[in-house]
Amino acid sequence: MTDRSAIQLIDEEKEFHQSALQYFQQCIGNRDVGLDYHVISVFGSQSSGKSTLLNVLFNTNFDTMDAQVKRQQTTKGIWLAHTKQVNTTIEIDNDRPDIFVLDVEGSDGSERGEDQDFERKAALFAIAVSEVLIVNMWEQQIGLYQGNNMALLKTVFEVNLSLFGKNDNDHKVLLLFVIRDHVGVTPLSSLSDSVTRELEKIWTELSKPAGCEGSSLYDYFDLKFVGLAHKLLQEDKFTQDVKKLGDSFVMKGTENYYFKPQYHHRLPLDGWTMYAENCWDQIERNKDLDLPTQQILVARFKTEEISNEALEEFISKYDESIAPLKGNLGSLTSQLVKLKEECLTKYDEQASRYARNVYMEKREALNTKLNSHISGTINEFLKSLMEKLWDDLKLEVSSRDKATTSFVESVAAGKSKIEKEFNESMETFKKLGLLISNEEITCKFSDDIEERIKQLRDAELKAKIGRIRKNLVPELKDHVIHLLSHPSKKVWDDIMNDFESTIKDNISAYQVEKDKYDFKIGLSESENAKIYKIIRILAWRTLDTTVHDYLKIDTIVSILRDRFEDVFRYDAEGSPRLWKTEEEIDGAFRVAKEHALEVFEVLSLAVTSDNVEIIPDVPMAEEESGEDNEIYRDNEGVFHSRRFAHILTELQKENVLDQFRRQINITVLDSKRSIITTRTH
Ligand code: GDP
Ligand code: MG
Repeated sequence: MTDRSAIQLIDEEKEFHQSALQYFQQCIGNRDVGLDYHVISVFGSQSSGKSTLLNVLFNTNFDTMDAQVKRQQTTKGIWLAHTKQVNTTIEIDNDRPDIFVLDVEGSDGSERGEDQDFERKAALFAIAVSEVLIVNMWEQQIGLYQGNNMALLKTVFEVNLSLFGKNDNDHKVLLLFVIRDHVGVTPLSSLSDSVTRELEKIWTELSKPAGCEGSSLYDYFDLKFVGLAHKLLQEDKFTQDVKKLGDSFVMKGTENYYFKPQYHHRLPLDGWTMYAENCWDQIERNKDLDLPTQQILVARFKTEEISNEALEEFISKYDESIAPLKGNLGSLTSQLVKLKEECLTKYDEQASRYARNVYMEKREALNTKLNSHISGTINEFLKSLMEKLWDDLKLEVSSRDKATTSFVESVAAGKSKIEKEFNESMETFKKLGLLISNEEITCKFSDDIEERIKQLRDAELKAKIGRIRKNLVPELKDHVIHLLSHPSKKVWDDIMNDFESTIKDNISAYQVEKDKYDFKIGLSESENAKIYKIIRILAWRTLDTTVHDYLKIDTIVSILRDRFEDVFRYDAEGSPRLWKTEEEIDGAFRVAKEHALEVFEVLSLAVTSDNVEIIPDVPMAEEESGEDNEIYRDNEGVFHSRRFAHILTELQKENVLDQFRRQINITVLDSKRSIITTRTH
């Protein structure tokens, strides 16, 4: 016996009661009922003993007139009660299904419009949600046809047609006629014939929607008839009759079993209240009630709810169960697969009972959500895998045997090793369905590795250029200063020849053909050409700085004076001269001065022996972008290509000449004085 009172599902104001959901929870608890439940509605005129019957048959607790203090009408509306306890004559071992009973309390035979409206809506609702419709009638009403039972049945037929129309799904409703106070004088068979005839007549006269004109009553309904004894006059017989009736609700698999699969609405119980409420809402607002649409709506909502629940559970245990496995591909993937399967199974268990396409669609969405959650872990794994593999590569490149393996070969080998391992890991994730598309990751990965290789190459290049500079710069400096300190008239020819050959010597290892270099770090031809240009700029800057630093006024004066003295003081054999006459001194002075000044022009302006001004062939002032800047660190200051050749200004030249003249004049005076001194002795 259930001690729960029935609840009012829909009240006299035609409001759907929200307490229904709570009532279902109380009845069902945590049991997973799924589709294993049934819904029965009962119709019939007021005070025809409906509630009394239901309470005896199903051990429910509907209000009856007897239970009321005053014998007045019970509260109108649709009442709902739950039972697992059907009253039967036989013992049933197997688990009894959950049955929900709807008791429709209508009007008392009145024809008022208001009540007809409720009756129609209640019929529509009952048909939309139940498998069996019990029609309760007195024996003496049969054949009189004035009872509102027949009006009710006409309504039931009409609304059924509006709901199921062509009835492509072969859905049916069982109309169970329970004939009360069946005394037995008229056999049940003739009573049922009489009712059936009347029903068929109503069906024929019914105006049917397009496409259903030729349809038969039996396309939509099965009919059953049961007679019950008078409850008050034949109490024992009545109870026995009810028990026999009860047998038909539990004897699964027998001919007389009332719950045929085709009566069921195929909606899992957890979606039932929502479905019922939506249906009632449509009915109450006089909207067309379309059951497949309602079922889809409920299916969408419920599968979403189930999916969210499953996802929530997945997320709640995700971090904790993944954290310790992050480094190990094998255990990580199997744990991910396990978590994912658990989640999908949980979803499947409940959601698979709903409309298949909705269920599948939501499953796909859930799968995508799971994968996107997992993708964070996969990315993290691949990222740290990448770091580890990259460290290995760097080590291999730096510790390679440079004699047998080039930088380029070593990097290429390392790269393909990384790619192989990376792709293998990714394939593993993909094969297990943890990764839908690896395109994005692959793209990011190859960008990443290219960037890393570029950085490695830049560092290698910087080191290489650094090594070249270490030799080239001092060599250039030494050579230039050496040449300038004892200049000839074609000193710039010599300097430029030396300049080119020094550059060439320093990078000969990288020369592949004339004017073409390969610095052996996997650069393209144009990139190599750019490096060559950088080295030339470096050389030109060194040359420029060295020349301009060295050829200051004082140095030039001293070079000129050295040249003067070489000729003035020493004879062709290199022996010091001894002066005899002043004329001799004056003569030597002229020759020496001329000799000294022969190089004055080339020391103040850098020109070749063909009298062509030397102009650097690279833009010395060009600022190289980024890290290349450091290449020029020895050469601070601004470089102007056109300024290179111009060593002295006109003023500076005069200054040099002034000093030079003054100094050689002193030398001449000293020499002349030495003759006088010699003579005086
Ligand atoms: P409902 O309005 O159809 O739910 O009717 P109730 O179950 O409330 O019963 C109405 C009245 O009919 C009560 O006074 C019952 O005692 C009486 N009643 C119940 N069952 C029977 C029956 O089988 N035969 C007769 N004659 N009266 C019954
Ligand atoms: Mg009642």
